[in-house]
Amino acid sequence: MAPVHRLLAAGAAAALAALAAGCAEREPAPSPGWDELPPAAGARMFAFAERLCAISPRDAGTPGAGAASRFLAQEIRRIGLKPEADCWTEGTPTGRKTFCNVTAELPGTSGRTVVLGSHYDTKPGIPGFAGANDGASSSAVLLGLMEHLVSSPSRPRDTVLFAFFDGEEASGAAYRDNDGLHGSRRLAAKLAARPPSAGPVAAVVVADMVGDRNLALDIPRNVTPWLTKTALKAALERRETCPPVSIAATLIIDDHVPFLVAGFPALDLIDFEYGSAPGRHDWWHTPEDTMDKLSPESLARTGSLLLGILARIDRDEDEIPAPLRAAE
Ligand SMILES: [Zn+2]
Repeated sequence: MAPVHRLLAAGAAAALAALAAGCAEREPAPSPGWDELPPAAGARMFAFAERLCAISPRDAGTPGAGAASRFLAQEIRRIGLKPEADCWTEGTPTGRKTFCNVTAELPGTSGRTVVLGSHYDTKPGIPGFAGANDGASSSAVLLGLMEHLVSSPSRPRDTVLFAFFDGEEASGAAYRDNDGLHGSRRLAAKLAARPPSAGPVAAVVVADMVGDRNLALDIPRNVTPWLTKTALKAALERRETCPPVSIAATLIIDDHVPFLVAGFPALDLIDFEYGSAPGRHDWWHTPEDTMDKLSPESLARTGSLLLGILARIDRDEDEIPAPLRAAE
């Protein structure tokens, strides 16, 4: 928007046109707050996804996974936060594997933490699998949000813990206790073991498969109910910039489950219709999961929804249980 003095110096026709547009009398727009995504964010997120996708396969325990975790740490450092790598070894049906979670914290003042989570690994055993939507898209959204929040003149009150999980994917067809969700189980246990002085975890919000050009997000049945409400209200408030969000008919096993099991409020946002025609899911876990199926707009829409959810939690706008409310 043009500053007022420039509008006054302009010709009468231009001033009238500006008056008609309803902006001539106003001060220049204030800088957008942290809860508003800048217009370029989608393109930034798309570029992050391309770079992560170029590191494939990045199955847990492989050199690709190591390169991907280093890429994440390098970007977090460049953005201005301190990356933390948590690496450990675990037995799996295909032998012992090393996993590495990468996290970064944007400190707040409320004493509470909100976790934003995404897995970055790829599913093993699929030749040519790049995991553009499944792994790269949600990680790219988190990097884009981090970049935005760090550069924003305002900050959320809540501490935001960005968590990039390794080992979400099972090596077999189905999840088992020792196969899949490794990174989220690890972080859930770590958070559960924190001393009370670390403050409560208000919510864990997991995104997965959020970059499809035809984006429509589902909330599985197995999430914390007040967070479903928060997500639906955020989507309604921002209907111009958010993807359609609906409640799925089914339960979905994803990285939010270990947090639910550990007693944390947790939400999962996932687009489980990813295919060559409406209603089909035939690109999922195939070599077809490539960058050309994604769009910057979809990534930005997911980002906007996540910011809306963060904002509602930050402002205690929903029925957050009393022990989790921000300190006054
Ligand atoms: Zn997957």
